[in-house]
Amino acid sequence: MGTEVSVYLWSDDSESGRAALEAVFQEAERIDRLMSTYKDDSEISEINRKAATAPLLVGDELYELIRRSLEISVLTEGAFDITYESVGQHFDFRDRQRPDDATIALELENIDYRYLRMDDDARTVNFAQEGVRINLGGIAKGYVVERGIEIIRDSGLSNAIVTAGGDSRLLGDKRGRPWMVGIRDPREDGKVAISVPLADEAVSTSGDYERFFDEDGIRYHHIIQPSTGISAKSVHSATVFGPDAVTTDALSTSVFVMGVDKGLRMIAGLPDYESIVIDAEGRVFFSSGLEQPAVPPSE
Ligand code: ADP
Ligand code: MG
Repeated sequence: MGTEVSVYLWSDDSESGRAALEAVFQEAERIDRLMSTYKDDSEISEINRKAATAPLLVGDELYELIRRSLEISVLTEGAFDITYESVGQHFDFRDRQRPDDATIALELENIDYRYLRMDDDARTVNFAQEGVRINLGGIAKGYVVERGIEIIRDSGLSNAIVTAGGDSRLLGDKRGRPWMVGIRDPREDGKVAISVPLADEAVSTSGDYERFFDEDGIRYHHIIQPSTGISAKSVHSATVFGPDAVTTDALSTSVFVMGVDKGLRMIAGLPDYESIVIDAEGRVFFSSGLEQPAVPPSE
């Protein structure tokens, strides 16, 4: 999926620590082979080729992740929508390629999560029409991170951090102290805007600085507003914290698309999840659960 995976862990035994690292990287490669649209022989590419013709039997892992994606689409009123790929496939950020207006107008007709028909008994996926494409780039890295932490935990270890792109999951703390997770300044490379102490939690950031090119003062980047078919504009980064990395991954992309007001209102309805958003003016917004208490601490 074109992303770097990193793992930190503590082990009393260097041999088994190294084995756990290796197992996590192999798992990441396995998931990439299933879910990368860059690979013609991945299962997701097969779905994109065939699912409009007839219902297609899909493996359990991919099936479940597509299910989760649809749940998030309902929750976010379509801000998160894996059929964004219908237009997304026409972008190439490395080669500074973007679809022209006619292509966007045409492909907008193929963006709607309701075009995905799933049969839970038959485990099939069927596209309602020709031209629909899906891409799990907004949720699959969270899945890699969850699976990585599971492997490390199963190896008997209890302090680790697994990161894939903008998604991390922390297992335990940093040996007695919280991990300090930095949210980067969206416009200054290498500068941290805010540091947050965290333990035993997942955290995902979506930003417009990961994959992009600038043209005539407009930034074209990888997070697409499904309603317009072009890059979402209102914020520079959205971070979501919570118990599960698959969810924080999808929700950080969602909050990015929804913007400050709508995004934070949606997060306020999810007791286990919090968010920090940096808008297009560089202002920082916190979800209600993170706001400072109004009462000064008593001496
Ligand atoms: P990162 O890849 O930097 O961790 P995100 O988690 O926000 O960032 O994922 C961005 C990816 O999500 C894009 O590269 C694309 O594959 C996918 N995506 C873009 N727009 C949407 C959308 N509206 N709904 C679901 N997925 C999207
Ligand atoms: Mg995401």
